[in-house]
Amino acid sequence: MSLVELTATELLAELESGRASAVEATQAYVERIKAGDEHVGAFLRFDPQPALEQARQIDQRRKKGERLGRLAGLPVAVKDLLCSRGERTTCASRILENFVAPYDATVVARLKAADAVLIGRTNLDEFAMGGSTENSAFQKTRNPWNLACIPGGSSGGAAACVAASMAPLSIGTDTGGSIRQPAALCGVTGLKPTYGRVSRFGLVAFASSLDQIGPIARTAQDAALLLEVIAGHDPLDSTSVNRPAPRYSQTVIEPLSGLTLGLVREHFGEGLESEVETAVRQAVAVYESLGAKVKEISLPHSKYGVAAYYIIAPSEASSNLARYDGVHYGYRTDEKAMQAELAAERASASSGGGAQAVEALDSPLVRLYRRSRAEGFGPEVKRRIILGTYALSAGYSDKYYLKALKVRRLIRQDFDRAFQQVDLIVGPVTASPAFKVGEKVNDPLAMYLVDLYTVSANLAGIGGIAFPCGFSSSGLPIGLQLQAPPLEEDRLLRACHMYQQATDWHQRRPDFGF
Ligand code: GLN
Repeated sequence: MSLVELTATELLAELESGRASAVEATQAYVERIKAGDEHVGAFLRFDPQPALEQARQIDQRRKKGERLGRLAGLPVAVKDLLCSRGERTTCASRILENFVAPYDATVVARLKAADAVLIGRTNLDEFAMGGSTENSAFQKTRNPWNLACIPGGSSGGAAACVAASMAPLSIGTDTGGSIRQPAALCGVTGLKPTYGRVSRFGLVAFASSLDQIGPIARTAQDAALLLEVIAGHDPLDSTSVNRPAPRYSQTVIEPLSGLTLGLVREHFGEGLESEVETAVRQAVAVYESLGAKVKEISLPHSKYGVAAYYIIAPSEASSNLARYDGVHYGYRTDEKAMQAELAAERASASSGGGAQAVEALDSPLVRLYRRSRAEGFGPEVKRRIILGTYALSAGYSDKYYLKALKVRRLIRQDFDRAFQQVDLIVGPVTASPAFKVGEKVNDPLAMYLVDLYTVSANLAGIGGIAFPCGFSSSGLPIGLQLQAPPLEEDRLLRACHMYQQATDWHQRRPDFGF
């Protein structure tokens, strides 16, 4: 059996017992990426030499009997939205195409301290804005289950590389569903932790009150292993929770007894495809056979989730992205061309409209900002900046931004009430399996509605996990979502593990021919 077919937990056992070396494991993944990524496009950058060198050092240290980190020798892929010292961190945007991070994100530092082998940087929607990875400025990522389909997004590369056995573990981020949705569409396990559970220091900000980093893996056990390494308090992120992270990789195998699951009435309304509904209901039946009770509950404000999210997230984004001005960071417009443009406009203004018309022109600095941003950002990012700027503008912020914040509070209260009655909420991740590349690119509203079942967890700050619970008639994975009260990642992982012990959906691998 090839090493890439093992779960991360199994591979770690091989490495620890000496039956496989870190170099062998890394080499196996390097070969796999070389053969497959040409077709999938999961990696923005992949450089085997430093990864193999890192693996070599780990093997040497192991030979000497040195104490090694928790992930010693395991390849991990990182979404290109987290800073890694001395490496490019592009956020899949032209504006940061040549930006080299001066420091490590805390999650990257923890991976390095755990002796993980950093195997490559994965593709995403530009600045994590999107749900299909089609908004990347550099390349499209394909779904390994059907190369004509999108892998989901924004962590599309992160989910696709695990699904295609090109990395055993990867790091994603989730602002409105970007770990859970691509995990579901690619048939892998992805966990969005509680807001504050994982440090965001060094994560390039999209919407700071919603962003969270989390693991993508093949199984709950593997996700637990990765979460254990990245979770925990960080004084460098003032929103990080000051509570020790449990030993998830140990507790994950303990089954939960007396579990009550909540089935949300509003989840089974209009838009949910019947194949998805059937798979979700069958998964609920599996839980019942394992002793769980099921209760119908209501989250009455969840129907406003997408509307509130698409005000709050763009508002925060418009503020966070103000820093990309062509002066401090990243891409700057061609200044010579800009000066020539201004001179030509000045000449035509003075001959046509006189001094007033000349005055109405931009100053060179404003022109530099405008041109740099117009050329550096892609269309979806611009759309979000415009939406957010509008929602925050004087005279409108009460009507939009503040109202959305009130809805956000009501959504959180719905969850608090629900969790007085049930231990976990169970339901779909997406209304349908992966769609075709290009299918929704010209319809932003249809794209935003894909986030129907995921945004509420971000608005409420709670955790959620997505994992495969079936396949469509066309052979595409269907995901199940569990959501838990704040800081109950342990419960999510254990419940997911119970299901994966009883079923084998998570063991299926796509055969895309490479
Ligand atoms: N699809 C959502 C959006 O476009 C969520 C993105 C995310 O979680 N980063 O904003």
